[in-house]
Order: sequence, then structure tokens, then C-alpha cells
Amino acid sequence: MLITEILYTITQIRQKIKSFKEKKLVIGLVPTMGALHIGHESLIKRAKQECDIVIVSIFVNPIQFCLGEDFEKYPRQIEADRQICSKLGVDIIFAPNADEMYPDEATRIDENFTIVAPPASYQNKLCGNFRKGHFNGVATVVLKLFNIITPDKAYFGRKDAQQLVIIKKMIKDIDLPLEIVDCPIIREPEGLACSSRNKYLSAESRNKALCIFKSLKNIEKLYNTGITSASEAIELSKKLIDPDLEIEYFEAFDFETLKRAEKIQKNTLFAIAVKINGVRLIDNLII
Ligand code: AMP
Repeated sequence: MLITEILYTITQIRQKIKSFKEKKLVIGLVPTMGALHIGHESLIKRAKQECDIVIVSIFVNPIQFCLGEDFEKYPRQIEADRQICSKLGVDIIFAPNADEMYPDEATRIDENFTIVAPPASYQNKLCGNFRKGHFNGVATVVLKLFNIITPDKAYFGRKDAQQLVIIKKMIKDIDLPLEIVDCPIIREPEGLACSSRNKYLSAESRNKALCIFKSLKNIEKLYNTGITSASEAIELSKKLIDPDLEIEYFEAFDFETLKRAEKIQKNTLFAIAVKINGVRLIDNLII
């Protein structure tokens, strides 16, 4: 098994990219914050099938965390991640530190740095309502990664549905020459969506969190029995959420435009965020 090489600087990765481009190799990028799990693995496997070169970026992006969030304690485990990447045949891990991506610490805050701002109509809802500035941070780092790595394809999970819609919108609006590949949510055997943050859950919380997927599945069941009102389906399904889970939002939107959905139809996104013992979990179902 070849050990995946880790590159830490923009100069190093640009040199590699140059040689790949000279050989006309198709480059796939899987952007992550590390602490890789089978959800990330599914993106990497898809990229391996479709690209000649697969690059996984691992960067816990400070500017997408709000004050009081888990930036400091976010799991960092580069050697374990490298083993997973090696096993899957990833060509390169790009793991810059914050100084490499945002050289002057003072510029990490928006007043002195160019920030990519997705449209308000895409941001001011769902996670964007609860994580002010989060999607500016996401769009900024993703555009930086696209400019550094210039991939032909980039792989994103539906787990972060609002993020995926916002990235697709950015690509379209500013004519970035790459394809966004959208990948299904990978779940643990009992239905909990895989997430690096699941590590924070106690056994009891993890058990309680299983109701999230049950509640989403219930939406589908209701739709199949003829209910077409999104709010009615949500109200009925909310009853399946354990009272120890604090619901931040449970709402329906169109998966392409992020406009609120009244009637359930193809492409309706039902998205939920909850907090359980201080751990924030998100999940969704797309009809
Ligand atoms: P993260 O490391 O949390 O920033 O996630 C990196 C990428 O992996 C994003 O595109 C996520 O949507 C995707 N991802 C995370 N968890 C899952 C999952 N359970 N299933 C599919 N994709 C996922």
C-alpha cells in the first residue's frame, strides 16, 4: 500500500498540479475538515472512480466557525486520516495550516480580507440563521481551494445540503470551470448520519439521536400515503423527536433554489438541526 503524501503549502501543491495538468490528468478534489469517516470515504471512492488524480484537502477552516462554536476542540487526527487516504489510494492530502490559508492572522476576520458572500436569500435560512457568517467562510475557503488546486471535479455530500446548494450556485454565478459532484448521505447501520461530530456523543445521546432519521423517514412515509403539505408532514414527524433534543429548525425548501416549499414534490429538501447535550447535529431528506 502506498502511503499518501501530505503537502502543507500552496507552493508545493501548485507544483504537483502543474505536472498533473501537463499530463492532462483529470483531477478530483474532496474538500474536508478531516476526522475522516465512511461518509468522507464514499466521496473519495466516487472520486477515485471518476478521476485520474484524487486530492483530499484537510483544513479546519477558522473563518467558518462562529464565536463559541467547536473550532478549538474539532477533532484533528491527520495520521489516522492519512491511513484511510492511503487505503483508498488518495494521491495527495493537502493540509495547510491557518497561516498558510490566511497569512496575516489579523486578516482572518472579514474586515481586512476578501470574503466571498453567497446571496442572502441562500444564506439567511437553515444553518445560516444559526451560524452567522458561516457560509461566507465556507464559500471563501472553497473558492480558495478551487483556485489553488484547479480541480476538474469536486465532491460534496448531501449531508450538508445548504452548503452544497450554495457551492453549486457560486460555481454557476461566477463561471468556475469545474463540475460539482453531489453524493448521497452515508449513515451508520442504525440510521444516524455519519459526522465527525458524532465523536462528541455519549452512548445515551447517540441512541436518542436515532429519532432524527426516523422522523425524516416518517416524512417520506406520509408523502407516500398522500400528504402533500410540507408543514403538516413536518408537524406530524416532529412528534417523533425525543424531547431531550432541542430542535433548531425542521423545515422544507427547494433543493435547488432554497425557496421555502409549501407542497411536497420532487426535490423538496426536508432539513433538520438539533442540539443534544451541546452537540449540534444536522440531517436531511430530499424527496
Ligand atoms: P466535513 O469534513 O464535515 O467538512 O465534510 C466534508 C465533506 O464530506 C462535505 O462535502 C460533507 O457534506 C461530506 N460528508 C460529511 N458527512 C457525510 C455523510 N455522512 N455522508 C455523505 N457525505 C458526507
